Amino acid sequence: MKHTLGLFIDPKHQRIVYILAFAIAFVTSFAIFTASYLSNAYFAISSYTQLSLSNLNRQTEAAIRGFDALESLPPGNACTPATIERLRDASFLPDGINEFMFVGNGKVLCTSTSGLLPAPVSLGEPHIDRSAAGPLDLWFDVNLGAFGHRSEYGTILQRGRFAVIMPKVDISLGRPPWLDIEGVYWPGSGIPFHANGTPGLFAVNLAADQDGWSWSSRRVARNTCVHGTYTCMAVAVSIPALLWHSLGWLALAVVFCALLAGFAAGRIRAFLQRYSAFEARFLRNMTPERLVCSYQAVFDTTSREITGCEVLSRWRDIDGSIVYPDRFIPILEREGQMLAFTRMMVRRAWNELSEIVPPDRHLQINFNISPQDFLKSEIPHLLEPFLAIPERFSVAVEIVESDKINFADAEKIIESLRAKGIKTYIDDFGAGYSNLENLAHLSADAVKLDKSFAMAPPHSLMAEMLDFAVQMAHAIGRSIVVEGVETQERLEHLLNGPCPVHFIQGYFISRPVDIRSFVALLAQGTPALHALQRPQKCA
Ligand code: C2E
Ligand code: CA
Ligand code: CA
Repeated sequence: MKHTLGLFIDPKHQRIVYILAFAIAFVTSFAIFTASYLSNAYFAISSYTQLSLSNLNRQTEAAIRGFDALESLPPGNACTPATIERLRDASFLPDGINEFMFVGNGKVLCTSTSGLLPAPVSLGEPHIDRSAAGPLDLWFDVNLGAFGHRSEYGTILQRGRFAVIMPKVDISLGRPPWLDIEGVYWPGSGIPFHANGTPGLFAVNLAADQDGWSWSSRRVARNTCVHGTYTCMAVAVSIPALLWHSLGWLALAVVFCALLAGFAAGRIRAFLQRYSAFEARFLRNMTPERLVCSYQAVFDTTSREITGCEVLSRWRDIDGSIVYPDRFIPILEREGQMLAFTRMMVRRAWNELSEIVPPDRHLQINFNISPQDFLKSEIPHLLEPFLAIPERFSVAVEIVESDKINFADAEKIIESLRAKGIKTYIDDFGAGYSNLENLAHLSADAVKLDKSFAMAPPHSLMAEMLDFAVQMAHAIGRSIVVEGVETQERLEHLLNGPCPVHFIQGYFISRPVDIRSFVALLAQGTPALHALQRPQKCA
């Protein structure tokens, strides 16, 4: 992350990042808007289709209920006044059907509106007969003049001695303007008979696709039939019409997405500017006055004493706030300033430690060395002041595995450091991807288990792996330091574990502190820890 950010420090790159971030945020938010708009449109189409279909079916069901009620008329093929009376009663029911008819010997004899017809009217062969449409016969586009409705055409349904004229259902109500719809009666083959809506739409869809959706650049269409009935609904969305009717929304969405993208890109740019401003400020002010050394105690499990410390760097920003190394070490590495910084650090630590630590107290001091500096011959030279008084200090350098270090070279360096009295620790052992086999072949003096093991919550996988990691470090025959011990339970667990842990470092012993607090800690010691059980022998 830090390295990627480094690419964007240059203002020219920041402009590109801004444009890119704007484009990505705009396209993403506009895509989300379009998807939700289309899903709304899809929902509108589906619900409108279902509504129209159920309206169409509801009328057929109402007709069937009317037929059921009329079945109680005494048998016979003659239209009596009592029959006409019952037809009228049926047509007054508030179900939308107003015209019931009585059929005798295949001809309509009387209707609820006209009473007894002057002459029986034959309906001829049905367009859809009983076999296809359950118990019903259907006629479409019948001239209703003979039944007293001059110049009108309609659909007739017949079951046994009774028939109805189906009322027209208006399906324009609530219809979105970009949606075309047609209701038809269709037994599954042959010609579809228009019921309402836009005539011919069902046939056009049918020609495009037998079942389901059909797509083209200008229209999206679908035919839906209700299983077990002969009612179907065709819908078609005209894409230009949909776009035209959505222009207002589209314009609003463009403005909104542009504002959102501008805001997001602005935040990213502000972050990069802050970040780059920090880098410039840090490099300008990388002076000994702003450097702070923090000392974190290392606890020896055998002697139950603090026998050393790790020196950790901090930088005091111009506003007085303390900046932690994860923020500035990558900058130093990128700018090739790491060695100069380490030199400053070691000098400061030497001044503080040699001046304040009681002369009769022996301490091991650990410094973190960046992989790119580890191979440089200057390291022993930097540490000379400490090496000059071995009765007070011994020194170790901590290195993290890195592809910048070739193992053959590393081994030579470790040996040459050892010859000068400097120990080497492998830091962050087990973190990320480590080539454990290579690490095992290095003759380092100790390994520091990565703090993620000891800091893992109880019973988590990482916590379970802590013992294995200790055993593994033990198997390669090195001293073991466990970092990140924050609780007494973890400390006791390590002391009672199957393998001895030689050193422990972590907030439970002490946080990294300034030199005065560190020396106070040395003076006060760790009496509470003396009572704890001694580490076991490795199983
Ligand atoms: P590190 O070498 O693994 O150092 C230990 C880090 O773990 C320190 O963070 C320390 O404060 C933290 N730590 C120790 N015990 C605990 C604990 O019980 N709980 C928690 N939550 N944290 C604990 P810090 O000081 O922020 O240092 C971060 C890293 O920066 C160090 O990791 C080291 O790799 C690097 N670093 C620090 N100072 C220097 C330096 O002078 N030179 C170089 N090259 N790297 C440095
Ligand atoms: Ca370290
Ligand atoms: Ca570490």
